[in-house]
Amino acid sequence: MVKLEFLKRTQTESQPLESELSFEEICPIWSKKLRNGIDEIDRMTLVKDSKYCAVGEAWGFTGKQTGYYVAPLIPIVGCWTCIRYGQKFSKTAREKKSYSDFEPLISDFVRHWNQRHKKIKKTRLDSILAR
Ligand SMILES: [Zn+2]
Repeated sequence: MVKLEFLKRTQTESQPLESELSFEEICPIWSKKLRNGIDEIDRMTLVKDSKYCAVGEAWGFTGKQTGYYVAPLIPIVGCWTCIRYGQKFSKTAREKKSYSDFEPLISDFVRHWNQRHKKIKKTRLDSILAR
């Protein structure tokens, strides 16, 4: 069901000529951590602190995507899909810690990010570069 909906969206919204961001570009810190193997502290961060998990990094560690920090603002600034991805990272980290365990989740999240939030990241990168 979710997959079908996703495919439909891809066909209507994707722009094939535009380059997609990789997980490394969206979450440079976490992509490195996950590839090198996370330690207990990293694992607990993923499990407990959605603000600092991979999804949180994509949002610039603002916690904007989570319900914990700015709950009333979520419908305006947040993204429920990202919140759900944050929860999935947390759930995965509770039981597993190798990169391959996170891989399907990462590729789903990256796909979602490229569809919905690529502009946010680009704007932020541009503003960092302009400084
Ligand atoms: Zn999102």
